[in-house]
Amino acid sequence: MTDPRNALENFYDEIKDCQRCTLAASRTHVGFGSGNPEAEVMFVGEAPGYYEDREGKPFVGAAGQLLDSLLEEIGLRREDVSIANVLKCRPPKNRNPQPDEIESCKPYLYRQIEIVQPRVTCTLGNFATQLLLGKKVGITKGRDQHFQGPNFFIFPMLHPAAALHQERFRKAVREDFHNLRVFLDQGLQPAPAQEQMPLL
Ligand code: URA
Repeated sequence: MTDPRNALENFYDEIKDCQRCTLAASRTHVGFGSGNPEAEVMFVGEAPGYYEDREGKPFVGAAGQLLDSLLEEIGLRREDVSIANVLKCRPPKNRNPQPDEIESCKPYLYRQIEIVQPRVTCTLGNFATQLLLGKKVGITKGRDQHFQGPNFFIFPMLHPAAALHQERFRKAVREDFHNLRVFLDQGLQPAPAQEQMPLL
């Protein structure tokens, strides 16, 4: 079996010139993913922003700095976790991902999850949460729970950018990270895929 680092590198080579949707025309780089290829925890955000598009890496702008400090608060480092986005290319002016873009891009995220095999996938915000849960759940409803995915748990959290844009979300965003720490420490093991409803 190929080791996960090689598998991710090979996969990146396959998709770095992706032309599946119109975002290809305006992007600088496909923003693939970063972090530990065998991470126990994977974070899935929404889409690259300006700095992510320039660097081809997720969460390197202001939201990324906040993510780093929230990780540190719960004893994790960026190198320990895996980080990806629903969309791999930046939507113009950071507008919301469109359904056709999500549809085109989702096999890439599924493949990343399949390679990394996280125990817990933290979905940051509505787009990642709804994609992985396969249903329309608002993040403010979904965030106090965990769900069984195929071989991993889905742990919905507020997007850290919410705390950057709106003061009222700061406390709740931190709370989600502290709840994640508690959940990780419980050490629950996800049920194998064949015993669950297929999500992916
Ligand atoms: N940066 C990312 O890479 N993803 C987001 O969802 C937000 C900022």
